[in-house]
Amino acid sequence: MVCYLKIKLFWRFIVNIVLLGKPGSGKGSLVEILLKSVGCQGMIHISTGNILRQNIKDGTELGQLIQSYTEQGQLVPDEVIIDLVRDRLSQSDVDYGFILDGFPRTVAQAEALTEMTKLDLVVNLQVSDKEIIRRLSGRRTCRQCGSIYHTDSIGDPMVCEKCEGELFIRSDDKLEAIAERLQVYRVETDPLVNFYKKQGILCRVRCTGKSREEVSALVWDQIMVFSLKKMEENIERIFANPEARRELAEALAEGRRIGEQLRKASIPTYEQMHTPCDI
Ligand code: AMP
Repeated sequence: MVCYLKIKLFWRFIVNIVLLGKPGSGKGSLVEILLKSVGCQGMIHISTGNILRQNIKDGTELGQLIQSYTEQGQLVPDEVIIDLVRDRLSQSDVDYGFILDGFPRTVAQAEALTEMTKLDLVVNLQVSDKEIIRRLSGRRTCRQCGSIYHTDSIGDPMVCEKCEGELFIRSDDKLEAIAERLQVYRVETDPLVNFYKKQGILCRVRCTGKSREEVSALVWDQIMVFSLKKMEENIERIFANPEARRELAEALAEGRRIGEQLRKASIPTYEQMHTPCDI
């Protein structure tokens, strides 16, 4: 608990993160790993894809409105998704920071987000199209508990290993929808790389051929680098206060330890376990 409070001081400098990346680039699983690490405790994961899927499942008015877009791999209209995110970001649980996954996806959404809140860091997860197609076309989702598998790493491609629920292929993971989603990404979302580069808050992480854990360690490094820059800006204020100085030193040591842990948990990638493929 003591350690957690100290890390909170650390986090005062860096709280709001956006993950950019093609569908299937691993944004969701990266967030899962990061949020389990002590450095990100208290932060909220906001996935627009998950919110929309939940609305479709619950048969809400919004769900009925957007179902056909998501099934075909098209984007939901900007005004609908912007209202949804504005509403989510107005809730008090985002006070300790958030990781936005799947939003923004268009320049109009990015502009609206700039009006809503201040971002600290935008992480661009880079994965080749070939790898995306392999990942998404083999993805199976459990109808009952929502667990996600890849056909390369499960025994029975029809049954969930956790709850024995039925595994299915999400309609937007079918080949035609994947092609559509990649094309939409190129046209609508790629321009955001320049949008955030100009703001000086973009960092790139090359993910092809890397395990989820390796990627999470690299992203954590970027968070540390960014935090250090922010601290530099506040250095006089921190060093004027001995307590803050001590807490900062401990928070930095903790930050390094988290990076080490993420790295050590590294598991082999699909490519390392099977015949290497040229990506
Ligand atoms: P995801 O799980 O993030 O790939 O999102 C699944 C689907 O939800 C997308 O293919 C879109 O149809 C829709 N969606 C999610 N986020 C957005 C967004 N920011 N703008 C428009 N549509 C979105």
